[in-house]
Amino acid sequence: MDDFTDRVALVTGAARGQGRSHAVALAERGADLVICDRCEDSAAVAYPLGTEAELAETAKLVEATGRRCLAVRADTADRAAMDALVARAESEFGRIDIAVANAGVAAGAPIHEVPGGQWDEVIGTNLTGVFNTIAAVAAGMAERGYGRIVTISSMLGRGAAPGQAAYCASKWGVIGMTKSVALELAGRGVTANVVAPGNISTPMVHNDALYRMVRPDLDAPTREDVEPVLMSLHAQPVPFLEPVEVTRAVLFLAAEASAHITGTVMPVDAGAAARVTA
Ligand code: NAD
Repeated sequence: MDDFTDRVALVTGAARGQGRSHAVALAERGADLVICDRCEDSAAVAYPLGTEAELAETAKLVEATGRRCLAVRADTADRAAMDALVARAESEFGRIDIAVANAGVAAGAPIHEVPGGQWDEVIGTNLTGVFNTIAAVAAGMAERGYGRIVTISSMLGRGAAPGQAAYCASKWGVIGMTKSVALELAGRGVTANVVAPGNISTPMVHNDALYRMVRPDLDAPTREDVEPVLMSLHAQPVPFLEPVEVTRAVLFLAAEASAHITGTVMPVDAGAAARVTA
């Protein structure tokens, strides 16, 4: 079930965090990897994004499994860059069988204070970036009659939170887009599914800006200060899950044997999904 021997997988936002976990796990199970990351901070995001050194480290971890890795600095919000990346991958590796549209950013503010740049960045990366990734791989997958598309939404893709209008809009959008793709490609051997994580222990969550957003009542909140609030978003009494827990869902949906699972949303969120209807 977990055998990805000689499959070629694209993982976006793979310099660190969940993307790195997905890339290394796929390689450990036999896949060659195409990984990308923007490797640049954004003026609209209040914490540092992945770096070139981190992307190179992911590539090293993939290659240490004995698999090949094409690592490219590319911004998923840039359609031409994603088309070029996929064209290069198809020329060097022959095809892309699996695409994990993982790259994302978090930024928030009360709706009347959201700067235009913040809205554009969150929608540009989290929604348009996922569109660009799928659009770049879909034609080749449909033509070859095989593909596994896994997009990463969030528990906020089926819920809401104050100060998170752009993030929620982007993550709800990912679900609608992925379901549409599932229907479009249903007759072509290509599945498209969503994973919706809860709070995952990565640099997106463990940074001062997010801690301050979660605990605006404190000057310099610590991890211990934010834990009770973040735990309340889950149903099970845990504030954070580990990236590898999300990877388990990605591997399941990316597997050849999951051929007839498409258009679904799989939460990995310590029970938060039990509170929503969809
Ligand atoms: P992370 O910040 O550790 O990693 C995200 C990576 O994506 C970074 O290396 C970053 O440089 C890269 N990236 C950002 N914008 C990009 C772009 N436009 N093009 C290419 N690369 C880009 O965060 P993470 O927790 O690993 O996040 C992975 C995904 O999971 C994201 O889509 C995020 O929204 C989602 N998610 C995270 C959590 C959480 O609690 N951490 C919860 C729900 C959903």
